[in-house]
Amino acid sequence: MHIFAFSPAGFDGYMVTIEVDIRRGIPGVDIVGLPDGAVKESRERVRVAIRNCGFEFPSDRILVNLSPAGIRKEGASFDLPIALGILRASGQIEEEHERPDVMVLGELQLDGGIRPVHGVLAAALTGLSRGITRFVVPEANVLEARAASRGLVLGIRHLREAAHVLRLKAAPVYAFSKEANTGNNPELENFSDIKGQDVLRRALEIGAAGRHNLFLFGPPGSGKTMAARRVPGLLPLLTREDSIEVTRIHSLAGTLPFHQGLITAPPFRIPHHSASMEGMIGGGKQVKPGEISLAHKGILFLDEAAEFRKPLLQSLREPIETGRVDIARAAGTCWFPADFMLIMAANPCPCGNLGRDEAACLCSLHEITLYWKRIGSALLDRIDLRVPVKPAAVTDLVGSEPEPAINVKNRIREAAERQKKRYGTSGFTFNSRIPPGLVRRFCTLSPELEELFVRAVKKLSLSSRACHSILKVARTIADVSGDEKIGKYHVLEAVQHRRYGDSHYFWKSSP
Ligand SMILES: [Zn+2]
Repeated sequence: MHIFAFSPAGFDGYMVTIEVDIRRGIPGVDIVGLPDGAVKESRERVRVAIRNCGFEFPSDRILVNLSPAGIRKEGASFDLPIALGILRASGQIEEEHERPDVMVLGELQLDGGIRPVHGVLAAALTGLSRGITRFVVPEANVLEARAASRGLVLGIRHLREAAHVLRLKAAPVYAFSKEANTGNNPELENFSDIKGQDVLRRALEIGAAGRHNLFLFGPPGSGKTMAARRVPGLLPLLTREDSIEVTRIHSLAGTLPFHQGLITAPPFRIPHHSASMEGMIGGGKQVKPGEISLAHKGILFLDEAAEFRKPLLQSLREPIETGRVDIARAAGTCWFPADFMLIMAANPCPCGNLGRDEAACLCSLHEITLYWKRIGSALLDRIDLRVPVKPAAVTDLVGSEPEPAINVKNRIREAAERQKKRYGTSGFTFNSRIPPGLVRRFCTLSPELEELFVRAVKKLSLSSRACHSILKVARTIADVSGDEKIGKYHVLEAVQHRRYGDSHYFWKSSP
C-alpha cells in the first residue's frame, strides 16, 4: 500500500507519494522533496499530534520523502499523510492484509483533531484518474470528495480514527446535516421587479438565453445594478459535468463552504472595482483562481465598469475568447477554466446625466471620450448586447404587472435545450460560444435576409466580429421565440442591440 498526498497546481495537480524511512541516529525529522513553508511546519504539528494521541513518536532519525521531487509541495493537507506514513513505518499501524493504495488529505491540530482542507474534489478526481479508489479525508470534506461519485471515501475527525480506518474497508458513520446542496446560491431575486423598461427586460432575457455578454449604460438610479442582479435567477441549474467543474474551482479557491457537496446553481460574482489583477485573473504564491474563474459557467458582473483599472479590463479579453485563463509563474504555467457571461454596467458619462431628459450633462466631449476609452473598444467589441437603460417612467411603475418571471425563465430553459440539442458534441453549448469558423454553418440566413444583413453591416460599418455577434444574437432570438430558422425580425432586433459603441463610445439617441 502506498500513501499519496495531493499538491494542487492551478486547476490540475499532482499526486505525491509519501515515503518514510526510520533509522538509528540523532533524533530528528527531515522532509525532502521541495516542501514549502506550510509543509515544512507540518513536522512540528505531526510530532505533537502523534504524541497526544497516545502513539509513540520514534526517537530516531526520520526521513520523509515527497516524490516526485521536482514539484513544489504546497499547503497544510500534507500533515495527515505524513503522520500516517510515520505511524506505519514505525510499526504502529499493522496491516493485516495488503490494502490498495490510499490518498490521504488533512491538516492536524496539536490534539490530533483533523481540520478540513481546500481542493479535496480536485484531489479526488486526480486520484481516481490514476486508479486510486480509497480516500481518507477530513469529515467536513466528505460530501465534497463524494461529489466525484466514485471510490471509497472515508471521513475522519481524529488521527486515532485515521490509524484505525486505514485498516478497515468501511468508514465510521456520521450523521450529515444534508447530503446535497444547491450551494453558492445567488440571490434569486425576482425578475418581475423590473417594471416598464421593456428593452432592458428583453436584452436580459436574450443575454441569459444565449449567454451573450451584456453592457448596461445609463444614468445613476436607472436600475442597472438591480437589473443585473436579477439575471442569475433566470439561468437554469448547472449540468452535472459543469457542476463538478464549478465545485472544483471553488474548492481550490477556498470559497466552497465545508460540509458542502456540489454547487448546482450558476455562480454570480461581483468583484469590487478596486480588485487587484491577481484577485480578478488568478495567481498568487500558491496559485488560486480569480473572479473570472469563480464565475465559470455563471455570471461575472462588473458594476461601475469604467472605475476598474484599464489593464484589468483589457485582461478579460482573452478569457472571453478562449473560456480559460493561463497563469505564468516561476515553476511553469498553470490554467483555470473561465467560461463566464460578462455583464458590465456604467454611467454614460463622468457626471452621469448624459441621456437624462430632466437634467443636463456638464461633461465636455473630450471628457466623455476619455471616459469611454477606459473601457476600450477592444473589450466593447466583445459585448453582444449594449443596452441604454433609462429610468422607468412613473406610469410604468404603477401600471399593469409585467410578465411573470417564470414565463421568462421557461423560455430561457427551452432555448438552452434547443441549443444543447443543436450543438451536441461540438464542444460548446451556447450560441455566444460558436467559434468564428462555424458561425455561418449554424446561423444560416435566407438569400433575401442575407441582402438585408449586408445593407445593415455597411450602414453601421461593422467589424467582422460584430457581424458574427449579430448573427449569433439573431440565432438566440430565434431560439427564444421557438423558431427553427432565423427570420427578418430576429436579425433586425439583433442589429438594434449592437448599435451602440462601435463608431461612437457614448450615448446617442439615434444611430
Ligand atoms: Zn456628463
